[in-house]
Parts: sequence; C-alpha cells; structure tokens
Amino acid sequence: MFTRSKTHVEEGDLVLAWLSRDSIIPLKITRDARFDNKFGSYPHNLLLGKPYGSQIQSLNGRGFIHILHPSPELWSLSLPHRTQIVYSPDASYITGELGIGPGSRVIEAGCGSASLTHSLSRTVGETGRIWSYEYHLLRFLAAKKELEDHGLLPNIVTLTHRDVCKHGFEIKEINSDVNAVFLDLPAPWDAIPHVKSVANTQEMVRICTFSPCLEQVQRTIQILQLEQWSNIQLVEIAYRNWESRKVELRDLNSSIERLRKIKRKRRNEGKEEKIERGTGVLKEVSRMEQNVKNHTSYLCFAALLPQVEMEVVDITVQEDG
Ligand code: SAM
Repeated sequence: MFTRSKTHVEEGDLVLAWLSRDSIIPLKITRDARFDNKFGSYPHNLLLGKPYGSQIQSLNGRGFIHILHPSPELWSLSLPHRTQIVYSPDASYITGELGIGPGSRVIEAGCGSASLTHSLSRTVGETGRIWSYEYHLLRFLAAKKELEDHGLLPNIVTLTHRDVCKHGFEIKEINSDVNAVFLDLPAPWDAIPHVKSVANTQEMVRICTFSPCLEQVQRTIQILQLEQWSNIQLVEIAYRNWESRKVELRDLNSSIERLRKIKRKRRNEGKEEKIERGTGVLKEVSRMEQNVKNHTSYLCFAALLPQVEMEVVDITVQEDG
C-alpha cells in the first residue's frame, strides 16, 4: 500500500485513522474488530468498502474520524517510535540531494524505526533496492515484521541484522552496485571506510550522514577527506510551517452592533434576529506554526567519483641525431 494506491478499504488494509493533526492511529482492518477512542466507537466493519478519505461517524454519532490511505509522510507521523526518526522535510531533501529516483540502489544504516526506509522504498520502487542495516536485535525484528506487513520486504528492501561499523555492508545480491548511501548512526566515520567495497565504481556515488552534533560532523568530514570523497557540503534544514487564512476586518460600529445582537440573542430576546457574518473587508494573514515535529540534524553530503583507470603513456621526446 506504500508503493501502490487503491480507492476503497478492504479487509487486511492498513488504514490511518486521522483524529487530529497530532493524533493519527494506524489500524489493520479486521472483520468484527473495533477501534475505540474517547470520542466514540468505530467497528472496522463500518470502514469496509468505504472510499479512502471518507469521514466516518462513530456509533453514537458524537465523534468522527477520517480514514486515510497510508503514505510515507503520514506513516512518519503515526508510526510506533523505536528511535528518533527522519521526518519528511529532511527525507525529501536527502532523497533529492542523493539523486535517488526509480531504480536507485541505496544503502541505509541504521534502520531504526524504518521511517526513512518507507520513504526511500516508494522512491526507488520495484526496480530499485534498499539495503538497510540494524544492529539492535529487537529493533531489527520489529522493522522486519513491519516492512513485511507493508509489502516492502523482500520486494524492495533487504534488511540485515549487522553492525556496519565493525563488519561493513554485506550484500549478497549480484549486481549490487550502490548509487547512494545514507548513514543515521552515532559513529558514521567508522562505517564510511566500508562503503567503497560495495559502491558502484563506474558512476558517481553520493553519501549523506545525519548527525545531531558538530563534533560528529567534524570527525565525519575528516574521514570523508581521508577516503577521497569530494564535494563535501554541510546542510541544516530549518523547517517552518506557515499557516495562512483570511480574516475579516470590520469597522468599530458594525462590531459593536454585532456584539449587541449576540447579547440580545443570548438573553433570548431576539430569537428571530439574524446575526450577519458581516460585510467587512477580507484580509490574508499568516502565522508561524509553533509545534513542528521534526528532528533536526546536520546533513553532511559528499560524492565519490568514478574510479577511472589511467593509462600511462610515454611522452619522452626523442631528439634527432
Ligand atoms: N533513520 C531511522 C528512521 O528514520 O527511522 C532512524 C535511525 S536511528 C536514529 C539509528 C539506528 O541505528 C538505531 O536503531 C541504532 O540501533 C542503529 N545503529 C547504531 N549503530 C549501528 C551500527 N554500527 N550498525 C547498525 N545499526 C546501528
């Protein structure tokens, strides 16, 4: 469901129940099961056959939810956190800068909560491949089950339980040549020397490391330089959402008159009196969102140029005589 879309809810689907912007609950649709929350009760049978995007009233009719089709963006807002995760603003920048597209062959370590894995999987599609690594056994097992349930493993993702800093990136598939590498690890500098053994030697390979501290970035850059990576760039995404809406500007007299009408109506005096919304001028206003969910880290990018074989040519000039 993360790589293909469908129009109507069926049994076994993963549906994201939108309660509010801060509360999106993943539901696996199971006949005769029920989803309860403080606003009401929603039997899964009510959802079966409904178009994605529908508003569903609770059984008692007091609450409602929207049933949304899963996407990597919505999943990153609703997934069970096992670690810090990469959110969509960073994920989209990383994907673009690493030149990842349909058919790309990408290494990712560690897998963590598999937030980025979902996003990368949709981008590379079934002609590409993600090799993801996780050394924490419970996180590895949880991610494996989740990626299997979501149809990404084994079709698009190969997940390996492995410490990439100690043992590097084992890849069993033939033609594994990797185009892009993303490292979200505490010590990326220990993993970087292992990249060359799996990297594509005929084309440019791009790498991105994701680290919260500048000290980590400094160590990473030293190793990148030592390993002859070039075009090293440091980026930080400062994500801000601006909400824009229209407000009505009224003159003072019409505002006072409106307040009087409301007061009369409350006292039950003006039952029949109509309270106009007003005929003031509409103005566009915007404000910055306060609570934004994203984990900012420094993104360090670099490129490994193709290994061109140099032919040694003897250019000694023979002098006549
Ligand atoms: N990018 C992930 C996401 O979007 O969900 C989050 C990654 S999380 C911050 C870092 C993960 O790397 C943790 O799950 C940790 O167990 C794993 N890890 C740390 N060092 C590792 C290593 N040497 N080899 C493999 N995995 C490692």
